[in-house]
Amino acid sequence: MSRRGFCRTVAGTAAGLAMAVTRPTMPAHAATNRAADPDAPVEPRIRLADVPPDKRVIALTFDCCPGAFDTRIATVLITEHIPATIFITWLWMRRNPDGLALLLAHPELFAIENHGELHIPPVLGNRTIFGIRVAGDLPAIRHEIDAGARAIQTATGRSPRWYRAATGFYTPSVIPQIEKSGSAIGGYSLSADLGASLPAARVAARMAGASSGDVIVAHLNQPLRPSGLGVVAGLRALQRQGTLFVRLDQARTTPPTNA
Ligand SMILES: [Zn+2]
Repeated sequence: MSRRGFCRTVAGTAAGLAMAVTRPTMPAHAATNRAADPDAPVEPRIRLADVPPDKRVIALTFDCCPGAFDTRIATVLITEHIPATIFITWLWMRRNPDGLALLLAHPELFAIENHGELHIPPVLGNRTIFGIRVAGDLPAIRHEIDAGARAIQTATGRSPRWYRAATGFYTPSVIPQIEKSGSAIGGYSLSADLGASLPAARVAARMAGASSGDVIVAHLNQPLRPSGLGVVAGLRALQRQGTLFVRLDQARTTPPTNA
């Protein structure tokens, strides 16, 4: 961790992996090297499809990378009956049994989806994204996704339908293979907190400014950062605007497009 907007990393784990605790912003190399490297990592964008013109409809999604549990956000979601899609890693589940139990106690609100086993980006090659070593090859990518899905199956009794990459980035040529194996790509159209790195006021403003059909991503694993307070304020603002909240498993979405 060194630069503003980038995630904090935890190095030296048992697996020898550097694991980000949040989903960061787009790395510069992905944006600039696309022409030179057509398989440079992409950050897919999805939106809600068929949004009625007379309603403001938003899909809230939260990532549980490694890290802890932000009860500030979870409490508001539960007390205000706001549904959300929660992307969870096995690492987070292992470290936050009480948080997981709270989410599982509200199946009417929370859909639990797959954020991978060890929070390893599904990216080919020998590179890092925000300091996180990528999977490197297809077998490692398959393991990351399949082991994450099995952990969710064990915890919830249902197989996840959606998979969201650690860091949000994928190798483009891998995306069709992930889809062919049965997982939908958990993209988004608005990053509310930029990896839980933004001050609260900016997070709240970004959420309040969401357009109908947006799929918002924020983080549920950083209870000590100011961003979470911004998410709470953003939720309140969206509520005041009469927003209808939907989960990804209850909505139609546009096909992912690569950004
Ligand atoms: Zn993540």
